[in-house]
Amino acid sequence: IVAPLDDHYLGNHLLVIVNPKSGVGKSREIFQRKIVPILNMADVDYDLHITCMQNDARNLMRTSNIYKWGRGVVVLGGDGLMFEVINGLMERSDWQRAFEYLTLAVIPGGSGNGMAKSISFETNEPYNPDPILISALNIVGGNRCPMDLVRVETLTQVVYSFLSIGWGFIADIDIESERIRMLGSPRFTIWSIARLIGLRSYPARLSYSKINDLETETRMNNYARCTSGDFQEVSDDEPGSIEFGLDPLQEFATRERVESFSSIISKHTAFMSVNDAPSFSSIPDVIEGSEVWVRGPLSKLPPLSDPVPSDWVVVEDEFVMIHASYLSHISEDVIIAPESKLNDGVIWLLVIKNGISRTTFLQFLLGLSSGNHLAVPNVEMIPVRAFRLEPLSQGSHLVVDGELLKHSPVQAEIMPGITNVYAR
Ligand code: ADP
Ligand code: MG
Repeated sequence: IVAPLDDHYLGNHLLVIVNPKSGVGKSREIFQRKIVPILNMADVDYDLHITCMQNDARNLMRTSNIYKWGRGVVVLGGDGLMFEVINGLMERSDWQRAFEYLTLAVIPGGSGNGMAKSISFETNEPYNPDPILISALNIVGGNRCPMDLVRVETLTQVVYSFLSIGWGFIADIDIESERIRMLGSPRFTIWSIARLIGLRSYPARLSYSKINDLETETRMNNYARCTSGDFQEVSDDEPGSIEFGLDPLQEFATRERVESFSSIISKHTAFMSVNDAPSFSSIPDVIEGSEVWVRGPLSKLPPLSDPVPSDWVVVEDEFVMIHASYLSHISEDVIIAPESKLNDGVIWLLVIKNGISRTTFLQFLLGLSSGNHLAVPNVEMIPVRAFRLEPLSQGSHLVVDGELLKHSPVQAEIMPGITNVYAR
């Protein structure tokens, strides 16, 4: 039994997770020297967790009583550490309540600090010369802002992403330049030049639900919130699936697919697993009169094995790169989607097709540090709610928030404002 949502309070207790291996390995020192004094001055109590290996933060988020950290969870590291925190939280049966309760924050200590930079950019804070100070002040300032996440599904896994999905050129650089890691940060430049000389393109089918009018389109509430009356039909023929209608989502889909459906959480205390229930058909009785939450972020998309919705745009071509991002920056010095906001409910799809000359592509690369890349010919930026990418050959890499996934068809959909972060 966990605290009901109504009891949400902004306690004073903070969890700080430090990755001692992030960036140049200075995170512990940064914490002691720069963060502790600020937390003390602001009278914030904290617990400190220093990670000892990969997935340590993920396990911590999955298994801890996170409700004791009313002040939030801060990662001192890079985007990889934040990815662990988000995915660990998503693996909880009470993930929805956990995201509503917690406020997340990042203090940039990694080599990839896209999220910290994006927050500063959006709030017009001077990131330089002291990004650590700026991020720490956001935390003690306590201004909570909603932020979008993206559900990413491949043939073999589902992950939740806050930064980007890359395939083609930038993803390849990211992964292949690991081979020359010892060169430090010039490795990206060096490898980009190498790849530019032998510029590759890959055949793929790209499908997306285009946003025609960013201003007037209503924002969808991406997760299903329903009352027992919404259940139209409950079937136990198909374990793991349940059908219901949802008014707010009607225009998008009347039949929802619920993946890995295993529990229902009422607004009060009930948290029951379907496996414990006598049958699916007893669920509406159990939840009678109370608001329920269906576990496992609902996907509004058809399964990867089914065709995309008929109103989607479908393009089959050869692509130099496809890069989807939902924050402005994918690293401190790459502003890939200048118009992107933390909570705009948009996946910004950057597409470059085969046929771009090397000189034009170089112009694109050079423009990435200022945002001028979007003025380069052959570079398309398409705001979408969801997309599907089906590579028609091997050879490239699929990278989500800097993590390499198994190469696969992939589909992604925005979950608007599902998490909260500190930003001024
Ligand atoms: P960077 O931006 O420098 O890559 P991150 O904090 O993003 O730094 O971490 C990089 C990777 O290190 C992440 O995939 C994370 O899971 C992993 N990691 C976290 N803690 C540790 C640890 N104690 N030892 C080794 N790897 C770790
Ligand atoms: Mg966004």
